Amino acid sequence: MKLAETIAQVRDIVKQWKHDGKSVGLVPTMGYLHEGHLSLIERARKENDRVVVSIFVNPTQFGPNEDLDSYPRDLEHDMALCKGAGADLIFHPTPAEMYPKSFCSFVDMDVLTKELCGLSRPVHFRGVCTVVSKLFHIVTPDRAYFGEKDAQQLAVIRRMVQDLNMDIDIVGCPIVREPDGLAKSSRNTYLSPEERKAALVLSRSIFAGKQLAEQGETDATVIRNKMSEIIEAEPLAKIDYVKIVDLNTMQQIPTLDRPFLAAIAVYIGKTRLIDNFMMTQLSNPGGVKS
Ligand code: AMP
Repeated sequence: MKLAETIAQVRDIVKQWKHDGKSVGLVPTMGYLHEGHLSLIERARKENDRVVVSIFVNPTQFGPNEDLDSYPRDLEHDMALCKGAGADLIFHPTPAEMYPKSFCSFVDMDVLTKELCGLSRPVHFRGVCTVVSKLFHIVTPDRAYFGEKDAQQLAVIRRMVQDLNMDIDIVGCPIVREPDGLAKSSRNTYLSPEERKAALVLSRSIFAGKQLAEQGETDATVIRNKMSEIIEAEPLAKIDYVKIVDLNTMQQIPTLDRPFLAAIAVYIGKTRLIDNFMMTQLSNPGGVKS
């Protein structure tokens, strides 16, 4: 496994792979890797001849009062995990390599990025679209792997690739959870033991909402209320949002009559965590309760 810190190094390595007829999979990450990231790398390993993992805490996707400086970092440990999961190349650029002083071009998106996390994180998706576009141009992968954990991000990337005619397959991978249900996240390390227990309200809320939907409940308000109730019962939790949206537009829907995303963002103390469930195949597509 190789480590590249410059764009030129990555281009040289990938050029040779392409010359040899190898397919390339890319897994973009911010590092501090856990089993969620590893599931993406392992999937990429199965589906491509070569696998690139980018590790870059992207400054442009953090707002002024967010956790850019305190975001956890551990390159040595990440490298060991990447090697074990079968990555061929880690791309670990400096912020100056990705954003030289003269940098002034951004990729922005309307509609999808204005809802859910976009409301409390107004610059976030512009930063995500910009850095992912740059990574796509640098690595030129055949496929790129993203987690359903960040469901809005996945929808945004799919739309960007479609709108801007990028010839890359976007592969969504299921959420990996801790044994007790909490979705794995690099930000879970911020939680005190007491907060870690309290954080279980996220997955409990998601599982309860999913169960209602699976039982045939189609009224989004009924499901949202149930989900909110579970979170509100926990004193350390503060809801940012609990929403059920059309999977294609991210706009709220009153009835579960189309593919949807039920998404939550919750502060546990100062740590903002997200979780979700999606349904693309409805058992009762007419939206009429049976
Ligand atoms: P991050 O390092 O948080 O930017 O995440 C990098 C990629 O890993 C994103 O596509 C995430 O959606 C994905 N990811 C993070 N946590 C999980 C998880 N628990 N299960 C599946 N994918 C995840």
